[in-house]
Amino acid sequence: MARRRQVYEGRGKVLFEGTEPGTLVQYFKDDAYVQQTRKAGTITGKGVLNNRISEYLMQRLGEIGVPTHFVRRLNMREQLVREVEIIPVTIVVRNIVAGGLAERFAMPEGTTLPRSIVEFYYKSDELGSPMVTEEHITAFGWAHPQDIDEILTLSLRINDFLTGLFLGIGLRLVDVQLEFGRLWENEHMRIVLADEISPDNCRLWDLHTNEPMDKDRFSKDLGRVEEAYQEVARRLGILPESRPSDFKGPDTIQQA
Ligand code: ADP
Ligand code: MG
Repeated sequence: MARRRQVYEGRGKVLFEGTEPGTLVQYFKDDAYVQQTRKAGTITGKGVLNNRISEYLMQRLGEIGVPTHFVRRLNMREQLVREVEIIPVTIVVRNIVAGGLAERFAMPEGTTLPRSIVEFYYKSDELGSPMVTEEHITAFGWAHPQDIDEILTLSLRINDFLTGLFLGIGLRLVDVQLEFGRLWENEHMRIVLADEISPDNCRLWDLHTNEPMDKDRFSKDLGRVEEAYQEVARRLGILPESRPSDFKGPDTIQQA
């Protein structure tokens, strides 16, 4: 079999040319990296779990009409996606104060925000992903005002849907980091959700203990990192050991 052409190697994934025109293969690695502290390491099994988790969440989002790049999972570590023109802006939607927001305003982590806050960051490792406003995005030609409107609407919808989905399995969605891209179909352009949604780019806290169940366990050396990724997949009902016939769906908790 001909060797696939590698298109890009990032911190957490490798992109290969896809099997069909206009597609890419996302290969999920176990590598973990924290931009702020430059901490690098490995989380064993993370790639397999994130591949599954992102597949599951993108499919659920697709079902409520959110356009995504996801096509299908190919194997344990790879999924086929539509190739998009990535908009170089990371969108962060925050529901609870944590991480950078807590630092910037010297606020205690864990405060529930009265409304979700949306932030934009320019996607650049070298520059440390600086925060930007809509003014920068339009002035630098990264996106048109109508694209930003579309991205904002989609981001809030994704955040609301994921908040409810995670709450149902006993997890608080503290914040989520999203990437969008342009998908061209003839002359028509659509903005679609790209990249991944996983504990690498969602802050998830256990509803009852507030224990982080995401990459912060690695970033902050909290231990039991692998277990946290497994637990998220388990609660979603998608542990990779289970065969398709074993899929039982999410373990919905009952409110007391
Ligand atoms: P990074 O270190 O840049 O975050 P990752 O390891 O996350 O990279 O690898 C994924 C890369 O692929 C990201 O740069 C992301 O913007 C890009 N990407 C994600 N989905 C798509 C897509 N559908 N088409 C093209 N590029 C994509
Ligand atoms: Mg990335």
